[in-house]
Amino acid sequence: MTITSLAIAFLLATGIVLPAYKLKLLTRDGAVAAVLIGAIIHACAPWYGTLCLLFFFGSSGYLSRNRKKGLPASIVDDVVAKGDKRDAAQVLANGGVAALCAVMIIVSKGNPVWDAALLGAIAAAMTDTWSTEIGRTYGTNPVDWFTRKPVLAGTSGGITMAGIYGSFAGAISLAILAWMSITKWQVASPVSFAVIFGGLLGATADTMLGSTLQELRRCAVCSTTTEKKFHCGKRTRMYRGIKGFNNDVVNFACSLTGAVTAGLIIKFVLG
Ligand SMILES: [Zn+2]
Repeated sequence: MTITSLAIAFLLATGIVLPAYKLKLLTRDGAVAAVLIGAIIHACAPWYGTLCLLFFFGSSGYLSRNRKKGLPASIVDDVVAKGDKRDAAQVLANGGVAALCAVMIIVSKGNPVWDAALLGAIAAAMTDTWSTEIGRTYGTNPVDWFTRKPVLAGTSGGITMAGIYGSFAGAISLAILAWMSITKWQVASPVSFAVIFGGLLGATADTMLGSTLQELRRCAVCSTTTEKKFHCGKRTRMYRGIKGFNNDVVNFACSLTGAVTAGLIIKFVLG
């Protein structure tokens, strides 16, 4: 990696993030974080790392905009803590582990375990995003993963059949992309396999944590359960979970699970 390649990586990342910022998919600090993560991955990882990241970034943006035509946004807006614009904490929670794996590719002088961990981290974030967005757009009657009781659309830890199909679609499409773009066929198949498992296990961890440890609050006025600190003009009260264990922490755990799973699979396969 040279200074020139790093500068090109920053320019390319800016060129891609800027339209997303203009489309109101990112806040200002979220856009800065996205440029940073994109540039690090482009500069450190093989080109298919960038390709998979772009696919995650583009498809999530598309699904998020498509959702607005589906389910009434007001229902989800009542429950989720943050709006559709992703801020720096959200971007780092989804992409921080992947960027770290990219740096480790350089540090380890190209150990393929870190290649797989990078793709596993992206796969987990993408699988979770696809299942969330597709679930919110096409899903009906969400139930809590743990209690199986009905929950409001958008509640963390809530699952729908559409969301489950969405998670498989996300993991499998990223695996196909990885399989087509990795030219060494001895590596392509095990890595694609690792991507599917990393993606699905990461998204499962996300749902399990979202349904149990994640902080959930309740409005004292209308008793809606929500992730918001304020509702109906009043401060909401803790209802379940660990204080401060918010959606960003859960998303970080999701991508970490994906990275560890995919990395371990490749370590085991390649010996
Ligand atoms: Zn309320």
